[in-house]
Amino acid sequence: MTNDDIPSLSSFDDESLAKAFAALEQQARDDAASLDSPDAVEAFRLRWTGRKQGRLNDVSSRWLKAAPPQAKKSVGERFKALKELVEGLLDQASGSGPSDAALAAEAIDVTLPGTRRLTGTEHPITRTLNEIVSVFAALGYSVGVGPEVETDFYNFVVIANQEKRGPRERLLLRTHTSPVQMRTMERQPPPVRIVIPGKVHRNDAADATHSPIFHQVEGLCVDTNITFSDLKGTLDHAMKALFGSAVKTRFFPSFFPFTEPSADVQISCIFCGGKGCRKCKDSGWIELLGCGMVDPAVFAFAAEKQPAYDPKKISGFAFGMGVERIAMMKYGISEIGSLYAGDMRFLNQFVKQVGDMSRTRHYRDLIAWQKAMELARCVYARTEEFPKSETFGLRMQLRRSAVSVAKELLDLATRVAKLINGLLGVLDQDTEPDGTRQPANLPRA
Ligand SMILES: [Zn+2]
Repeated sequence: MTNDDIPSLSSFDDESLAKAFAALEQQARDDAASLDSPDAVEAFRLRWTGRKQGRLNDVSSRWLKAAPPQAKKSVGERFKALKELVEGLLDQASGSGPSDAALAAEAIDVTLPGTRRLTGTEHPITRTLNEIVSVFAALGYSVGVGPEVETDFYNFVVIANQEKRGPRERLLLRTHTSPVQMRTMERQPPPVRIVIPGKVHRNDAADATHSPIFHQVEGLCVDTNITFSDLKGTLDHAMKALFGSAVKTRFFPSFFPFTEPSADVQISCIFCGGKGCRKCKDSGWIELLGCGMVDPAVFAFAAEKQPAYDPKKISGFAFGMGVERIAMMKYGISEIGSLYAGDMRFLNQFVKQVGDMSRTRHYRDLIAWQKAMELARCVYARTEEFPKSETFGLRMQLRRSAVSVAKELLDLATRVAKLINGLLGVLDQDTEPDGTRQPANLPRA
């Protein structure tokens, strides 16, 4: 395009002027619409506003100066409007924003699904452990913790009651959580009601049901007049809370180094209801935990630091259970190793089986997310429909604001989804996704 195509005007009446200027304005808009690089913008600037060859200059000299006196005012006004239009186009093209092409390259496609971080879920061991603890928490028990690296004094000697604390103390990985019982009693006078969840270590070969590392929950209750009946009642209640009210318990004499008398506890088989099946070896009963009345000699050790543990005045009971064993029973896991392998294929199917709330949360979240995406997609699609005659700068601005509106919508939808999930979470804290209640539903402490 050269400046030669600015024709000399033969007539200066209103109609001719309007037509001539409209044609130029259209040219300016068409030129501006195809500006896709800084070079193109510069070329546009030179072509229209250049001092020597600029078309505005040309129009000024050919039309404005040539106009007869009575038409000068009209030509002048039209020329001013044309100049403002060109300057406006130039401002938009060279101003704040990047070019159309650059914008397209950087554009965020809000219609694409986002990168979603998967919601975590409790490991079956953690979940079972928490469940056991919550049963006792509802009975007024608090949680005791202690070191995993223990001295042989706390781990063996005190409890086995064989010799007093010697000068030589060796460190080891605790073989049970019992040391925390003594540590608690040394710190705190009776009454004591604690449950002690934790990891323990044994010199055991791993097989389908044994692992050298596993988890225990032990319990200790010390007060005046604690009897074996209290022990039976507590454990019977706990087993019903964990496995359902139909479960029965029975106690058999046994031996543990730190309790006297001691007992093994069996529960009626949760798989066959006591009729006899492969899981209970046709006996109808499953052995699940050990317990007993705290040996007075243990209190005697505690009394060295806390005189209130006078074996003549107080009594107590203790119990312990394996978390893995209970988890395996509750969720039908046959290999203990699966719990530690960290295999997502195993854990993912377990999420469904356990019915962790995250699954339903995830689902609701997904619906809210989809709705937000639909909305954002609509807004974005509208920007494509802007009439082509609009200047490129205007389209750019509109598209930009549409994208930011879409982003805000997404943000809002996410927050609303969180809020809804929070409210629903309160409602179905104890409910499985399929609507059934868990077996263990004690009033919360
Ligand atoms: Zn059975």
